[in-house]
Amino acid sequence: MTSAPPADLAGWRHVYSGKVRDLYVPADTADDAAPAHLLVVASDRVSAFDHVLSPGIPDKGVLLTTLSLWWFDQLAGADGGRGIPNHLAADHVLAGDVLAGDDAVELIPDAVRGRAMLVRSLDMQPIECVVRGYLTGSGWAEYRTSGTVCGIPLPEGLNDGDRLPEPLYTPAWKAPMGEHDENITFERSVEIVGAGTATALRDLSLEIYRRAAAIAEARGLILADTKFEFGFDAQGVLTLADEVLTSDSSRYWDAESWRTGTTPAERMASFDKQIVRDWLTANWDKQGEPPALPSEIVERTRERYAELLRLLTS
Ligand code: ATP
Ligand code: MG
Repeated sequence: MTSAPPADLAGWRHVYSGKVRDLYVPADTADDAAPAHLLVVASDRVSAFDHVLSPGIPDKGVLLTTLSLWWFDQLAGADGGRGIPNHLAADHVLAGDVLAGDDAVELIPDAVRGRAMLVRSLDMQPIECVVRGYLTGSGWAEYRTSGTVCGIPLPEGLNDGDRLPEPLYTPAWKAPMGEHDENITFERSVEIVGAGTATALRDLSLEIYRRAAAIAEARGLILADTKFEFGFDAQGVLTLADEVLTSDSSRYWDAESWRTGTTPAERMASFDKQIVRDWLTANWDKQGEPPALPSEIVERTRERYAELLRLLTS
């Protein structure tokens, strides 16, 4: 990985780096103690096909964090639906597009303000909760060869980018660092986390997808698919964690282009990292280390991320 190492942050100790986020615990946390809170810092790193690429996308961490905070707020119950519990610490609330709350402001170091979330530390469930409302990407590839998506049979005659008859829940097992996540059946998720939790993960994921897709549609956007992560809080409440409904974890398309477009590229005019995936697919055989992204691809990706935030939140 060529990007900068995680920053030294006063009052915090770095404990883990995922592909995109760096996790910190309060510096006074004993080695064997479970911290109540974490600082989740979104870097500008970009990953595709499970590889971290270089260079990063300038401002991406701030854009993703702002978008996650906006979605947590949208899902918290303001639209009359039941509130979806999320992992933000009680004092980390969104007021306009700035973070408010005395403790949060004090606890989040200046160096990472805007790209950091102060969260409750959860017992994370090792399932990536994927919901697909439209057929594309790996789902389309599987459908073309077997007529199924993650083993679920679908009607004949669907095309890349088509809307599915019903949103599908297609879980993946969250592989330990360095390994590839693996698509699994719902039955396999029951074996991993138990029937009660597996069912709750599925039902909550489908509910959030439906609500978010309606919110996006009202703003001229299609939420084609997305991925959630959940964990249990100290009270045993299943809680939405990590990033949510960002352009990293989701596919967003322009609804007007999707209705009127005649080619897959026109129909799936995207506000996500599809630009990066497409460039890599054309310029890399997926063996060994991926090549560096050209500056034009970096800049176009940054513009699309910024445009999505503007379309959703303004
Ligand atoms: P990997 O960790 O396998 O690299 P990833 O690319 O999804 O996967 P990131 O999203 O970059 O990783 O890192 C964020 C990490 O923090 C994830 O492992 C996620 O499960 C974890 N996480 C997010 N929110 C919380 C929370 N509230 N409590 C505990 N862990 C959390
Ligand atoms: Mg993640």
